[in-house]
Amino acid sequence: MWAAKLYGKKDIRIVECGVPQISADEILVKTSAAAICGSDLRMIENGYRGIDETHPLILGHEICGVVAEIGKNVTGYQTGDRVVVAPNMGCGHCKNCQDGDYHLCQEYQALGINMDGGFSQYIRIPDKAIRQGNVIRIDDSVSSEEAAVFEPAACVLNGQEQIEIRQGEDVLIIGAGPIGVLHALLARLQGAGRIFLSDLSEDRVRKCMELVPNIVPLDAGNLEKEVMDQTGGKGVDICITACAVKGVQEASFGLMNMKGRILFFGGLPAGKDLIQMHSNLLHYKELKVCGSTRCNAQQCRKIASLVREGKLELKGLISQKFELRDFEEAVHYAAGGQGLKTVIVFED
Ligand SMILES: [Zn+2]
Ligand SMILES: [Zn+2]
Repeated sequence: MWAAKLYGKKDIRIVECGVPQISADEILVKTSAAAICGSDLRMIENGYRGIDETHPLILGHEICGVVAEIGKNVTGYQTGDRVVVAPNMGCGHCKNCQDGDYHLCQEYQALGINMDGGFSQYIRIPDKAIRQGNVIRIDDSVSSEEAAVFEPAACVLNGQEQIEIRQGEDVLIIGAGPIGVLHALLARLQGAGRIFLSDLSEDRVRKCMELVPNIVPLDAGNLEKEVMDQTGGKGVDICITACAVKGVQEASFGLMNMKGRILFFGGLPAGKDLIQMHSNLLHYKELKVCGSTRCNAQQCRKIASLVREGKLELKGLISQKFELRDFEEAVHYAAGGQGLKTVIVFED
């Protein structure tokens, strides 16, 4: 089989390797589609701990495929089942794992992060992932490309669960990339009132407005004034930073209404994450600041049902499809930031 393996900083290779052997407790999934995530691009650009010439890793954690082989001890699946595989696994017995938050386990492992992932014709699904409910069956109503973006949608859902958007609240999203668009789609579902969107690229804002109805664009260069004009000087109830910009995090405190909630969704580059803020803004407005990272399998399942019920439409997020042999071109396209999601698709 063919796979895209990372060997270190800026060293990704399309290599031929053996189809993984599975044990009696594992499943082999034949990949249908795997989407490129911003974190894949960062891993390629900067390298990643544990990955080197002698320890290469197949990237890809946004995965949809078909069950190709089932270990004899595994029940509940059949070959041919279409599945989305949630990538995160934990020890199974710590407090976080008991709460279902495997992605917060100290022994966290994930496909495409520290175990071989989805930019590969086949993926071995470890028993832990199967036991923890990461292998989620989907029906034929959803395309593989769309199913491959369940995972980032679930990460966005995880973020929004921390800030609890209430009916009619004003939501500001800063950053109109795929994550910003997903935040807008889900905020709409949660009953948000007005959704404001700001990004330095007018092009991206326009694209998002095509996908999510009734977005109000705000000028990124003049954000505080625009927010205050729109809200009668009160500020927004919710601010989501869907970008990795320190200044955006710092400025968010000044944009908030009383009891406002801020979500720092996009992380900052390591070592450049010290921010300054006027702490009295937090104090006198009773603000809450939340963070979120990754997602759990339950949230992936929730996204699957929202899509199945026709409440969430993810098709518009797919900008471009590439085959695995054109992986480098796909990475180049995704890094260019023109489109939204770039998906690697595989032949049946
Ligand atoms: Zn991702
Ligand atoms: Zn654990």
